[in-house]
Amino acid sequence: MARCGPKPVSLRTRFTNKLIVRRLDECWAWDGAKSDHGYGQVRGPAPEYILHYAHRLAARYFLGVNPGKLDVLHHCDNPECCNPTHLFLGTARDNILDAYAKGRMVAPAVARARKEAV
Ligand SMILES: [Zn+2]
Repeated sequence: MARCGPKPVSLRTRFTNKLIVRRLDECWAWDGAKSDHGYGQVRGPAPEYILHYAHRLAARYFLGVNPGKLDVLHHCDNPECCNPTHLFLGTARDNILDAYAKGRMVAPAVARARKEAV
């Protein structure tokens, strides 16, 4: 029996259709749905419709690695960026240390001191 409806679109095609590829020294923007924190998101095909993070798919498709339980971190700190030269793998600890190093996060003791100063 013939299948009805439009031909299923693969996850890779769904991903590349929303990716704005630029030069390697620029961030590659995401023209699709985003999480509350600004990360690109793409829905996988039926029947699972699994929600994937675009930057993790970029690591898989462009770097040829499956991040598994590792985080995919951004050198550029641009959550939607999918430029593979801006991505690297790390643990959750690496992610926190990276955030501290870039001044995106303050140590709990510093946060408490700031609160008390108000
Ligand atoms: Zn970037």
